[in-house]
Amino acid sequence: MPFLDLTRQHRRLAHEIEAAISGVVRRGVFVIGPEVAAFEEEFARYVGARFAVGVGSGTEALHLALRACGVRPGDEVVTVSHTAVATVAAVELSGARPVLVDVDPATCTIDPALVERAISPRTKVVLPVHLYGTPADMSSVLSVAMRHGLRVVEDCAQAHGARYGGRRVGVLGDLGCFSFYPTKNLGALGDGGVITTDDPVLAEQARLLRQYGWRERYVSVVRGSNSRLDEIQAAVLRVKLRHLDAWNVRRRELAKRYVDALGGGTWVPAAPASAEPAYHLFVVRTDRRDELRDFLADQGISTLIHYPLPVHLQEAYRDLGYGPGTLPASEAAAGTVLSLPLYPEMTDEEAETVAGALARWSRA
Ligand SMILES: *Cc1c(COP(=O)(O)O)cnc(C)c1O
Repeated sequence: MPFLDLTRQHRRLAHEIEAAISGVVRRGVFVIGPEVAAFEEEFARYVGARFAVGVGSGTEALHLALRACGVRPGDEVVTVSHTAVATVAAVELSGARPVLVDVDPATCTIDPALVERAISPRTKVVLPVHLYGTPADMSSVLSVAMRHGLRVVEDCAQAHGARYGGRRVGVLGDLGCFSFYPTKNLGALGDGGVITTDDPVLAEQARLLRQYGWRERYVSVVRGSNSRLDEIQAAVLRVKLRHLDAWNVRRRELAKRYVDALGGGTWVPAAPASAEPAYHLFVVRTDRRDELRDFLADQGISTLIHYPLPVHLQEAYRDLGYGPGTLPASEAAAGTVLSLPLYPEMTDEEAETVAGALARWSRA
């Protein structure tokens, strides 16, 4: 059983997707045209934000969101180590120093109490990650940020459609950053990303930064870069966005089966009380992770580990100065987490097979 099979989604939508692509080809406008504008409007409405700005990837969404906040070399951005390397890479693209804090072991998302202690006079932004699709403890993050006059940029790359206190992620902080990497809850047929915000000034900054700082063609008012969403991806995303809620409902249904099968014996994702996770990944945690992985593999069930090594222990990031033992909950997570197959097009039979295996495992 594959961990994920994207061809199933695309087979079902083949007609619509192909029509969307050929519409763009016929029109002959390929970057930042009418499809991007329409998608931005539709995605903004979906998350409940005033503005959405399409960009080249999730990493670029984070990078440009930080720059829109005025982050400059020498500034500090507080985020987690237990995340995709992209989160930390984006901080460094902005010129800032990533200040890494530990996660709350119950949720695997940023521990707000540790954020407070990590703040220095150079801190500009707090960057919580809604890892696995589970919203971080945003009310605590926002109150720490408010007390210290910091901006909050949400990494929503795994949490399209997740809710917190009734609102979608992406509108809780100052800016929300989404990835449309093909495997995400909303995936393009290549790279893509978007920044959401209610603030017209931040939206305008993001718009300038994504294209050479151009206020109009050939007139640069800030130092920007090239990070554009292309028309073909936007056209495909418009087709897929209409299905996102139904897909997330199916993800929750599958997640519930797994939770029931596990019967509480193994750690399953905890979420803040008012949160509705988007289950980008269904992650369990057990001290016998490698055994469980082999047990499932023997039954033909593929699994992955998100992530096997926290960023602060990656070779490339050793010079950030965090040695082994400095972020114990992140290091423990890396040694114990296991992601099970869970995606909307999984069949009931496949889900039963996984749930049955989990039930046998947790009884053994
Ligand atoms: C996927 C991901 C990103 C990066 O998105 P790209 O589109 O691949 O650049 C950033 N943060 C998290 C948590 C992600 O899962």
